[in-house]
Amino acid sequence: MFRTHTCGSLTAKNIGETVTLAGWVQKIRNKGFVIWVDLRDRYGITQLVFDTERTDASVLENAKSLGREFVVQIKGTVIERESKNLLMPTGEIELLVSELTLLNASKTPPFTIEDKTDGGEDLRMKYRYLDIRRNPVKQNLIFRSQVAMAVRNYLSGEGFIEIETPYLIKSTPEGARDFVVPSRMNEGQFYALPQSPQTFKQLLMVGGMDKYFQIVRCFRDEDLRADRQPEFTQIDCEMAFVEQEDILNAFEGLTRHILEHTKGVELEKFPRMTYDQAMRKYGNDKPDIRFGMAFGELTEVAQGFGFPVFDGQELVVGIAVPNGAEMTRKEIDELTEWVKRSQVGAKGLVWVRYQADGTLKSSVDKFYNTETLQKWAEKTAAKTGDMILIMAGNADKTRSQLSDLRMELAKRLGLRNPEIFAPLWVVDFPLLEWDEESGRYHAMHHPFTSPKPEDIPMLETNPGKVRANAYDLVLNGNEIGGGSIRIHDKSTQQRMFKLLGFSDEQAKAQFGFLMDAFEYGAPPHGGIAFGFDRLVSILGGQETIRDFIAFPKNNSGRDIMIDAPATISEEQLDELNIALTLKVKK
Ligand code: ASP
Repeated sequence: MFRTHTCGSLTAKNIGETVTLAGWVQKIRNKGFVIWVDLRDRYGITQLVFDTERTDASVLENAKSLGREFVVQIKGTVIERESKNLLMPTGEIELLVSELTLLNASKTPPFTIEDKTDGGEDLRMKYRYLDIRRNPVKQNLIFRSQVAMAVRNYLSGEGFIEIETPYLIKSTPEGARDFVVPSRMNEGQFYALPQSPQTFKQLLMVGGMDKYFQIVRCFRDEDLRADRQPEFTQIDCEMAFVEQEDILNAFEGLTRHILEHTKGVELEKFPRMTYDQAMRKYGNDKPDIRFGMAFGELTEVAQGFGFPVFDGQELVVGIAVPNGAEMTRKEIDELTEWVKRSQVGAKGLVWVRYQADGTLKSSVDKFYNTETLQKWAEKTAAKTGDMILIMAGNADKTRSQLSDLRMELAKRLGLRNPEIFAPLWVVDFPLLEWDEESGRYHAMHHPFTSPKPEDIPMLETNPGKVRANAYDLVLNGNEIGGGSIRIHDKSTQQRMFKLLGFSDEQAKAQFGFLMDAFEYGAPPHGGIAFGFDRLVSILGGQETIRDFIAFPKNNSGRDIMIDAPATISEEQLDELNIALTLKVKK
C-alpha cells in the first residue's frame, strides 16, 4: 500500500500505530540532534520527527538532505507530541520515522507554499501547479467542486438531464465576438466556439428532452475587462412547457439548495423587481440590496427655486448616507472629486446634512429653505445623522453615476458584507437596446428572447419600448444568472431578426437550422444560465473569479504557464491552407 493514511487524518487515537504516509516537505527544522519535518498532502500536515537516539543513522542522514517540496514516502510510529498544537487536527501527535523513501526531489519553489505567499500574481500563474498546493487556492477548487455537485444533485433530483452539446459549432450570438477554429477538412471554413449552447438547448426542447442542464464551458472573445475570462463556465438550463413563473421558481429552488448545502444559509423567498424599478431605485439592473441607500427622486421638489445646477435637468436624484452627517468638508470634497473622475463622469455633488439635532444644513442653503430640504429628506428616507448626496442631469447617466457613488460608499462603509446573501430577480427587461455606434437596435439578452405578448404590436412601431420575457438573478450586486422565455415560432423569430438588421438571407444562412426546427412542432420553452465561476466566487466570499479557476488566463487573455496563445508551424498552416499575412499594428 502506498500510504495507509493521509497527512490530515492521524490523531491521538492512532498513537502507537505504525503507518505509511506520502506527501511534500512543507518545512524542515534541523536542531542537529533532532529534525522536525512538516509533511503535507491535500488533506493536511503531519509533523515527522527524526532524532539521534531513536532514528536509524542512515534514515537521519537522508532526512538531512531533504528540501522544501521534496516528495517522500515515510513509515513510522504515531507518538504523542510534547508541545501540542491544538489548532491543527493532527497537532497532538507526531510520527517517529523509521523508513524514508525519496520519491522525487524538488527545485526550490519560486515562491513560498504558504497561505500568505510572497509570490506575485504573474509568478503564481506561471507556476500555477505550485500555487494549487497552497491552501487558499486548493480550498477554492474543492469548494467549486462542492458547488458543482450540489447543482447536479438538485437538478437531477428535479428531473433535469445533463446533456453535452458540441464545442465546434457555428456562431451563437451572445453579444461578443466568436473564437474561431479553422477546419482542415473543409478548406477555407471555420468553426466558431460557442458563446453559449443557446441554440442547441432550444433544439433539445424541440427534441422533446423537456428539462436539460449542463455545466458547460463558453467562449467569448471580448476585450477583457478586469475579472473576465475568455473561457468561462455556465450552469446552462432549459425547460419546455413552462412560463416565466415556472422558471423563476425552479431556479430559485436551485439557488436556495446551493446556499443551504454549501454555506448552510437558508434564504427567504427572493424579492422581485422590474428592470424599470431597479433602474429608478438603484440606477442599476443588478442592485446590491444588502443595504439601503435607495434613490429618492427630487426633480419635482428641487426645481423652480432658481438653483441653476438643478433647473432644467431631466432628473434630480439623491441618496441618504447612513450616519454620514459627520462627514467633514474635506471628505465631501474628496467624494466630489471621486464622482468627477472620468470613470464616473458626474459634474458634482450637492449635500444636505441631517444633523443630530434634527436641523438641516446644505451646500445650497441660499436657494432652499428648511421646508424644502425636509421634503428631500423624506424622499431619500434620510434619518437624523444621515447625509444626503444629490446629483442632477440626464436621467440615465445621472442614475448610473449615483449608482457608482452608492456602491463606493457601501464599500467604504463596510456594508458589502460577504457573509450576507441577498438575491433578487430582476424581470421585464427591455427586448432591445439602441447601439449608438452601429446606429441600430441590439438584442438586450439575445435574439431568441420572446417579447412580452402584450408588447408585440409595438415591435415595428416603437421597438425601444418593447419589454421581453427576460429575467436576471442578482446576488449581492452581481448578475449571477440570466435567461428568458424563447420565441418558438418561425414568423416571430423572423420578425426579430429583421428588427436586428439581418436580411432574410443572412438570417437563413446563420440560423436557418433553428427556424427550420420551429416548423416541426417546437414546444413553448425557456431557460436560464448561471455564471458558474462568478457564483462560486461570491459564495466563497471573494471578488475575483480567477481564484476559483484551476488554470485561468490573465488580463490579456494569456495562459502564461503554457504560454498560449502561440504561433503555429508552417506545416500546420499549410495543412489548413492558411496563408498568414498579419496586419501588425504599431
Ligand atoms: N444563453 C444565455 C446566456 O448565455 C442564457 C439563457 O438565455 O439561457 O446568457
